[in-house]
Amino acid sequence: MSAPRSVLIAGESLAGITAARHLRTLGYAGPVTLVGAEEHGAYSRPPLSKVILRDPSADQTLGLVLDGLDADVIRSPAVAADTRQNAVTTADGRQIGYDALIIATGADARRLAAPGQRGELVLRTLDDARLLRARLADAGSAIVVGAGFLGMEVASACAARGIPVTVVDADPPLQRILGDYLSAEITARAARHGTRFVQATGFATLTGDPVNGVALPDGTELTADLVVTCAGEVPCVGWLTGTGLAGRLGVGIDHACTTSVPGVFAAGDITYLRGHGTRPDRRAPFWSNAVAQGRIAAASALGLPPSESAQDDYFWTEVTGVTVKIVGRLPLLGEPTTAQGSVADGRAVLSWSHADGTSTVVAYGLRKPVAALRALAATSLPPSP
Ligand SMILES: Cc1cc2nc3c(=O)[nH]c(=O)nc-3n(C[C@H](O)[C@H](O)[C@H](O)COP(=O)(O)OP(=O)(O)OC[C@H]3O[C@@H](n4cnc5c(N)ncnc54)[C@H](O)[C@@H]3O)c2cc1C
Repeated sequence: MSAPRSVLIAGESLAGITAARHLRTLGYAGPVTLVGAEEHGAYSRPPLSKVILRDPSADQTLGLVLDGLDADVIRSPAVAADTRQNAVTTADGRQIGYDALIIATGADARRLAAPGQRGELVLRTLDDARLLRARLADAGSAIVVGAGFLGMEVASACAARGIPVTVVDADPPLQRILGDYLSAEITARAARHGTRFVQATGFATLTGDPVNGVALPDGTELTADLVVTCAGEVPCVGWLTGTGLAGRLGVGIDHACTTSVPGVFAAGDITYLRGHGTRPDRRAPFWSNAVAQGRIAAASALGLPPSESAQDDYFWTEVTGVTVKIVGRLPLLGEPTTAQGSVADGRAVLSWSHADGTSTVVAYGLRKPVAALRALAATSLPPSP
């Protein structure tokens, strides 16, 4: 396959910028167009739920740099794609042709408000983070709906400001992903820092207009000055209607980030990795996947083979002042082996062994280079005595 005459990247964020940069790293000298939807340009999202909620001066440190990319940047969202004519239409009426298209429009926050119900707070963009930070400044109480990574980070930010916070979910904090052991540790630690957890028997409904509480299926009603929904994300696929590229889970890709349409590739939070055999379709909307897939999509657009996996297995989060770095397969079932330190002291390296001789390794409150954790995860530690 010869190099494409032009590459269009839809989505000016981590996956899109990584793809653009990798095209240049691989020596591609043809025209690259980036279509973005946010006036702020490209920026990093993980700090939004961490440092940005406490420190306004950090807003200036988020930008993902476009220097030296020699890309044409159009800040007007894509509203339609025609994969037969190889063209994308933007909201300002432009029609941009392409030879290869990389789809990287990410995801939006999933919202729970009823149609017309105002005041639901979510956290996906810099504007969301600024609004939440302003509201935290004078809130006397908070409810967070959703006890996943994002929900627990937002709850930590509330607790760090001394705001009593209640987290509501049908499952204990982080249990679906990190398993019972770490979930129990993190829940206990969060409770010591002022975070209350309420387990619902099903979906919570937002109450008030503007929103000021939640109603649980058992009839319990909770109210607070601030209600933040952290209920997952929805892939931004609206502009792909009619192309057959996207469904409920996003845009399906294989390990080369190719989609069902030749010449069209996808990367990052908009994607799911297509399953085969007994392996189900799988979404993994994490930073390291967006980076790996951005690079792979760029290589594939140039007709080069992927040089890494489209599913990176590194993730990190920060709860109640503790950084948790994870390398390896999830969820984590059963008890870990403690390789170093102790969870009770808030500083430990833990390992869960798998039947294939690999492990999942977690650095809990300890600064460990990811490369060291990857090396540990490639082996299987003996169980703790
Ligand atoms: C608050 C927060 C904290 C996080 N913390 C962590 C963490 O600690 N660790 C971790 O591993 N991951 C974390 N993540 C996840 C990580 O940030 C994402 O995996 C990553 O941002 C995905 O990059 P992306 O480029 O695929 O998508 P996105 O970052 O969502 O970017 C997609 C871009 O496309 C734009 N767009 C949407 N529709 C269109 C359109 N029609 N036309 C043009 N542009 C469009 C969007 O505006 C956006 O700018 C966090 C995410 C959030 C929101």
